[in-house]
Amino acid sequence: MSDSVRDASCIFCKIIDGQIPSKVVSENEYSFAIRDNNPQAPTHILILPKNHIANIGEVSDSQLLGRLFQTATAIAKSENLEKGYRIVVNTGNDGGQTVYHLHIHLIGGRALGWPPG
Ligand code: AMP
Ligand code: ZN
Repeated sequence: MSDSVRDASCIFCKIIDGQIPSKVVSENEYSFAIRDNNPQAPTHILILPKNHIANIGEVSDSQLLGRLFQTATAIAKSENLEKGYRIVVNTGNDGGQTVYHLHIHLIGGRALGWPPG
């Protein structure tokens, strides 16, 4: 991307730039999907925008948001999660966000409990 925005101190920006290794699931012009390195279910994938955006509340581009969610549902199909899955976007401290680069969690491969903690 010619107009990519990175934060030099952000672990996910470093992953997107290849400075930190990751298990890449898919990549396109605007997104990068990797396997979570501390998986909470048999399938646990993170879909990241390539541009650094701290969280979902900071997104002004609704088309980008739609594309990220479409990427997540496409990966769910390719991962054979036809029995179901969960998409989660932890946001801010109370939301349990630990990495401040927007990411969609795609979690599946087992029956998931509700409500979350
Ligand atoms: P959140 O708590 O919603 O901000 O999610 C951050 C997620 O990133 C957690 O599920 C972590 O396990 C995951 N994570 C942190 N560092 C890495 C990494 N280097 N590679 C893959 N996943 C990571
Ligand atoms: Zn970042």
